[in-house]
Amino acid sequence: MTEGGEAFSAIEAITEVISQSESLGQILRFSVAKLSQALPVSCCWIQLVDEADGKLTLAVQQGFTPEMTQEMAQLKLGQSLTGLVALHGKAITTADIAADPRYTLKTPSQAGLHSFCAIPLSAGKKIVGVLGIASSAKSDFRLQDVILLNILGRQLGVALGRAGLYKEARERLALVNKLGRITYSRLDIREVYEGFAEELRELMDVDWATIAFIEGDKLRFVALSTKIGSVWERGELLSLSGTGIEWVAQHKQALVESDLAQERKFCTGEQHLKQGVRSLVYLPLMTTGEVFAALIIASCRPNAYGQRELSLLEQVSTQISSAVDNARLYQVERKQRLELEEQVEIRSQFVTALIHKLQTPLTSMLASGGLLAEQVRKEPSLGRLAQNILDGCHSLEAKLDELFDLAKGEMSTLKLELESLDLLLLLQNVASRFSPVIQSNGQSFTPDFPSSLPWIEADGERLEQVLTNLLSNATKFTPRGGSIGLGARKRGSNLVIRVQDNGIGIPEEKQKRLFEPYYRARLGEGERRGLGLGLTLCKQVVELHRGKIWVESEEGKGSIFSFSLPLAREEGASSQ
Ligand code: ADP
Repeated sequence: MTEGGEAFSAIEAITEVISQSESLGQILRFSVAKLSQALPVSCCWIQLVDEADGKLTLAVQQGFTPEMTQEMAQLKLGQSLTGLVALHGKAITTADIAADPRYTLKTPSQAGLHSFCAIPLSAGKKIVGVLGIASSAKSDFRLQDVILLNILGRQLGVALGRAGLYKEARERLALVNKLGRITYSRLDIREVYEGFAEELRELMDVDWATIAFIEGDKLRFVALSTKIGSVWERGELLSLSGTGIEWVAQHKQALVESDLAQERKFCTGEQHLKQGVRSLVYLPLMTTGEVFAALIIASCRPNAYGQRELSLLEQVSTQISSAVDNARLYQVERKQRLELEEQVEIRSQFVTALIHKLQTPLTSMLASGGLLAEQVRKEPSLGRLAQNILDGCHSLEAKLDELFDLAKGEMSTLKLELESLDLLLLLQNVASRFSPVIQSNGQSFTPDFPSSLPWIEADGERLEQVLTNLLSNATKFTPRGGSIGLGARKRGSNLVIRVQDNGIGIPEEKQKRLFEPYYRARLGEGERRGLGLGLTLCKQVVELHRGKIWVESEEGKGSIFSFSLPLAREEGASSQ
């Protein structure tokens, strides 16, 4: 192959690798190897500019001695010939480095190198590296060699620029993803923000930053992260008028103030400047096209936010908008919930106090009533009156107990006394206790139990209370002549107990609310007794057992109330 042909095929091969490979290392290594073959050189190398610390780092080389590799590992911009190429962006060719006063390195001369040529690698306007060749011959490189070097230099510059973009894109993507995770995993706005500000500091100046919500014609600083103190406190309410936030809300776009010492666009500028802030970015946070808040990032350096920072911040603020909005809604919801919980607490305390007040006189009424009934038992009419009073006292006592349990349940202090329980025995006892009551109401009663049931961990007294409530309701809401059933079955990993009647039934629309406190399905129909608490209590007790309670009913046909109890209690459920 002719020399020109060889150079041409080198260009072709390198171009192909540049266009196909995404690995910068591979592109650089391949180019240096090919160039070393195609040109009359002793060595070939590429150095890359590290913008952050103004240095030139050796990326790849071919033909270097170990000493050269060491000496050229890192040069300052402007140091020796390649340093000058990187600094000024202009190619340098020399026939003998030893005779060139600008050449300050020792090891290449020691290695017997003389002619030298280095060209800048540029991506757009930026110098990103240097491509160099050197030879032991003491004459300038030929024009065609320099031309070849330039052609490749241009292509490598583009590849380097592209790789830089990849890197930035990758970094940006990683950051946005990370911020996304931080913001979505937290519901408290302060936490959202603190994680976010910390991450952002890794990438740009953040001396002071805030998220401010727009509330009508006011703005509120809801989160604040600062290294320089702050004129405004978190939670502080300011007038929106004349601020940068008002501007971004109106224009729905980001805004940079590059140096407050030169120009201050907004009323807050003076205070920011006093605090030491020189540059600022305002970013709108939007959902459904409306700006509801702004993110403000500030630095004590002028011009801290260029195009790179701005576009990154824009991307990030779009990403966090919905998370911040969620956190805001969550806060509103939480405030309401806390208020509600407080009200429930107050009500429960009131009910508890009331019950105690009522129980005190009731205790003595029960005791005296019992004695009185005993004394006058032989007097038929007096005996009946005394017994009525006593029955009334007992019924009142039972209702107060129910109310007390419910109040305890609302305060989450209702506790189970768990024991290993023979549910079949419990059901049989309850059935035999209820049988005469149901019969005295003119109804038939058909308990239906299997011959054995597994034992369970449960609170027997509380379960009896549930069954008593359900059976009392069944007989209460079933006319004479009706029938009541009580059954139990093992179903999967649960025991299911059901109380059935063919009474008045419950309209479908009312079934959902039956288990709510104080709810009665037929208020206003002159219905007797109930406070509408029994089923609420049943639900609480069943749920404390990790079970479920439900109703199936048809108006005029009857109701089935069922509840399930898990056979094996779940982990962590043992000490309610
Ligand atoms: P109460 O003390 O009023 O009976 P509950 O919470 O036990 O309170 O019941 C709430 C309401 O559910 C009752 O007032 C009644 O309207 C309806 N209900 C409960 N059980 C039955 C049933 N077996 N048949 C028809 N309605 C029932």
